[in-house]
Amino acid sequence: MVEKRWIAETLFDDLGFRMTFAVERVLYETKTEHQHLVLFEQQHFGKILMLDGATQVTTNDEFIYHEMMTHVPILAHGKVKEVLIVGGGDCGIAEEVLKHQTVKRLTQVEIDASVVEFSKQHFPEFTGPVLSDKRFDLVIDDGMKYVAKTDRRFDVIIVDSTDPQGPGKILFSREFYAGCKRCIAKGGVMVTQNGVPFYQPSELTASIRKFKSLFADGSCYIAAIPTYVGGHLAMGWASDNRRLRHTPLRTIAERYRNAGRFATKYWTPDVHRAAFALPRFIAEAAARADEF
Ligand code: SAM
Repeated sequence: MVEKRWIAETLFDDLGFRMTFAVERVLYETKTEHQHLVLFEQQHFGKILMLDGATQVTTNDEFIYHEMMTHVPILAHGKVKEVLIVGGGDCGIAEEVLKHQTVKRLTQVEIDASVVEFSKQHFPEFTGPVLSDKRFDLVIDDGMKYVAKTDRRFDVIIVDSTDPQGPGKILFSREFYAGCKRCIAKGGVMVTQNGVPFYQPSELTASIRKFKSLFADGSCYIAAIPTYVGGHLAMGWASDNRRLRHTPLRTIAERYRNAGRFATKYWTPDVHRAAFALPRFIAEAAARADEF
């Protein structure tokens, strides 16, 4: 009997534990210019993409993160035309953004061209609809450089980054958030992939502290993603419009109706509102941002 290979996520080695997957088949493995990339098939989660030992996306639970990072900021804002995605190589977030017909242009700034290239072959469910949509504009660049120089202005900025290691580290810096502040349109909102508070509380506190030093409102919302192990994932929130985070349920429901009630498997108007109700330990991690 051939011994199955097991692939471990090493993101939390410093905490002394690993999530490990039994591998049905390795579909692709390489060292790109920027990071180690492995894609494999797993019996329960389908295809799993890992970058530098951290799970990025799986075919069976991707919908939770992709829907919550997209529909929450866009329907809270209500008049979104220009969207920027920083990172987002697999195009799962882009696919959700382009469900909104009000969006006139979607700019995606990804540092590693090979992640998009390989996603064309292995995640056609994302790249197919996205790369054929004329509203989509792909830029291969470091997100830090792009936000510091672009003359475009964005109603929504979605930072779908890796964790604060390797090329993704700069995307958790105040310098980067200041660059996003520079290219956000009036009343716009920025959301960020901001880690798992049960294991990475200081990452969340640090980001919210930086948000608050640049924007009128800085906070987060949450969702539970099976392969972002550790309970809730925190999604950072920064805007100069303090009301956006409190958009009433009926307004969100009405905007969703006007947007054509596109298909979702996790996001609903009620889930949207509930995502800002933070469990006490996460609210406390967010509140520590005010302590200097
Ligand atoms: N949802 C995943 C997560 O939560 O870990 C992230 C998915 S997406 C694959 C992350 C993308 O960010 C990768 O394709 C990576 O190449 C890109 N990335 C990392 N650092 C970057 C940078 N400085 N500028 C632009 N893209 C970056």
